[in-house]
Amino acid sequence: MSQYDCLVIGAGFAGAVTAGELARRGNKKVLVLERRDHIGGNAYDRPDRYGVLIHQYGPHIFHTNDQRVFDYLSQYTAWNGYQHRVAANIPDEAGTPGQRLQYPVPFNLTSLETAFGREEGKRLGDKLIAVYAAEKKVTILELRQSSDPEISALADYIYDHVFVRYTMKQWGQRPEDIDPDTTARVPIFLSRDDRYFQDKYQGLPTEGYTPLFEKILAHPNITVETGCEALKRLTFAGGAVLLDGQPFSGEVIFTGQADELFGFRFGPLPYRTLDFEFETWVERLPGQLTPQGCVAMSEGDFYQTHGTVNYTVDRPYTRITEFKRMTLQDLPGVTTIVKEFSKPYSAAPGEIPYYAIINAENNALYGKYAALAAQYPRLHLLGRLAEYKYYNMDAIVARALALTDVLLGG
Ligand code: FAD
Ligand code: UDP
Repeated sequence: MSQYDCLVIGAGFAGAVTAGELARRGNKKVLVLERRDHIGGNAYDRPDRYGVLIHQYGPHIFHTNDQRVFDYLSQYTAWNGYQHRVAANIPDEAGTPGQRLQYPVPFNLTSLETAFGREEGKRLGDKLIAVYAAEKKVTILELRQSSDPEISALADYIYDHVFVRYTMKQWGQRPEDIDPDTTARVPIFLSRDDRYFQDKYQGLPTEGYTPLFEKILAHPNITVETGCEALKRLTFAGGAVLLDGQPFSGEVIFTGQADELFGFRFGPLPYRTLDFEFETWVERLPGQLTPQGCVAMSEGDFYQTHGTVNYTVDRPYTRITEFKRMTLQDLPGVTTIVKEFSKPYSAAPGEIPYYAIINAENNALYGKYAALAAQYPRLHLLGRLAEYKYYNMDAIVARALALTDVLLGG
């Protein structure tokens, strides 16, 4: 008999929250196996060599309307109240060569006035409001269906300047060829509210994500082994789950790739991955050179105007994020940014499958792995990878809480 009641594979939000709840609410002894050398999954953050708190696997902004999720996480962290704002940065076609234009994304009433001039932008905004209602969110695919020639021309402008090239960079496909829920995440917003999200609760953990994970996992009933490839220890034989070669009769929560769990036997599930390029900029001071050379920063201590700037028309990367703008870290004279480059996931060493590519064919392939998993009643696939879905952090926490409700009998 194993000394553990439950086995959790992966220490991201799915695994950590499940382990924490099984240990605390269910008094279960839980073993957590994590292949990376740290906890936190893709939400992991750490100070870089300049002391700037960075998100190693891309920018993570917490936002939710789910009261239970917010209350649950707030037991382990306070929040810094950051409200995410994103600008699209594009060449200014009407301006002098080299000049650039910035307006809010989601594209809103302010974006209209920046793109078309105050008067014309206002007239177009009023027209959209008359058709769709003020404060309404309309997806780009919906807007493109309009039979009104003026709205249709406007939809073409937004499609061309905000969506098509960004989506080609991110997915290698056009907006109309990817899952419509993906572009619907960033609708056209008939509002002056220029925040990226309108959720009731928004922010970053004041101390960072990693301390939040440390607190969730700090419990005498929880053992965490990092740097541990679980699939070397977990096997399936004759309908049974084996841990280290011994039958394991407890609950197994798996938060990694479903295809990998079963040796890719039906073929690999497709994903997109990202390359991150981090750059640190240091204020011009005698003797202080960054590896990139000596640079002067604009606007005091910041590199850019917004937490994230999307390059929706040109440049090889999709977006640049400046961490200090989001973490609100008080660190004069130095700032770190990250550029994101998207490409197909090839399973090369070190590559991470960040995004499931949701379509009917891939969902059907995933269904085969899910059906196989269902043959093991105590094996649960949970999380963004294991469920092959485009879940935000709050959705994962909600699902982890719901699963533990079921496992602990309500
Ligand atoms: P993960 O965080 O991927 O954790 C899974 C863990 O399992 C990993 O640590 C992995 O190493 C481990 N693992 C896998 N297989 C094995 C194995 N065989 N053995 C041992 N360990 C294993 N959400 C938001 O709400 N707001 C945002 O701003 C946001 N930004 C994002 C930006 C990017 C670039 C990306 C990629 C995602 C973003 N997300 C955001 C989504 C967020 O990252 C996920 O919702 C969340 O991290 C999912 O948690 P998870 O536990 O399911 O998966
Ligand atoms: N999108 C776009 N232009 C933008 C922002 C988003 O075309 O300026 C589209 C793109 O297809 C992207 C999707 O909307 O993949 C979802 O964007 P989101 O910012 O939610 O993506 P994530 O932060 O999850 O990478």
